Amino acid sequence: MLYIVPTPIGNLEDITLRAIRILKEVSCVLAEDTRTSKRLLDHYEIKTPLRSFHAHNEHAVVERITDELASGTTMALVSDAGTPGISDPGFLLARACQRKGIKVECLPGATAFVPALVASGLPCDIFHFEGFLPHKKGRQTRLKYLTALAHTFVLYESPFRLLKCLDELISFCGEDRQACVARELSKKFEEVKTASLAELKEHFSQKEVKGEIVVVVAGT
Ligand code: SAM
Repeated sequence: MLYIVPTPIGNLEDITLRAIRILKEVSCVLAEDTRTSKRLLDHYEIKTPLRSFHAHNEHAVVERITDELASGTTMALVSDAGTPGISDPGFLLARACQRKGIKVECLPGATAFVPALVASGLPCDIFHFEGFLPHKKGRQTRLKYLTALAHTFVLYESPFRLLKCLDELISFCGEDRQACVARELSKKFEEVKTASLAELKEHFSQKEVKGEIVVVVAGT
């Protein structure tokens, strides 16, 4: 069977006891970046061998991995941070396993969008998760669609593009729409700021924006 195992998005304490046990018990851990996951495994004294599974070899290796799983091997899939499949590789393998009748279990655990959404104080009963917007082609079309939604939506954004993203949001939905920038969640310099888009732009224009970022935007 395949276990999909969430790993911390910053604070190394954000991993479940079950996740640690599973990572110890499986035959191998499929990792997006074996060096990043090696550091995590070393931290928890997990000796399980790592194998590479990332966006560039995902298509090529899914068939081989599912054959091994079908023959009785148990593996875990991790990404660099958070839950595999959420803006990370994982979907193709989960789909291939389901199609071949291989059991898939995803452990509950760390992901960046849930703490951002819940801490934002914006309505979180119904929401849309978008993840990363395309950088160029299709970006404006997605923004037009998202900013017309009646409910909250969530974006993943790079610190280098945050101001551009806030400008684009302002141009689609005006300066007064409420939004939240959640930066460096679970880390030393965590910052969760909810305000109008204009106030967020003003705040984040004052110094260089650093770290990992989730943008949460209220609905119409
Ligand atoms: N699989 C991950 C998850 O479950 O959230 C997401 C991986 S995606 C490649 C990385 C993006 O997630 C970052 O660019 C950022 O937008 C968001 N992210 C990850 N860790 C974060 C953190 N500690 N604080 C804020 N955003 C974070």
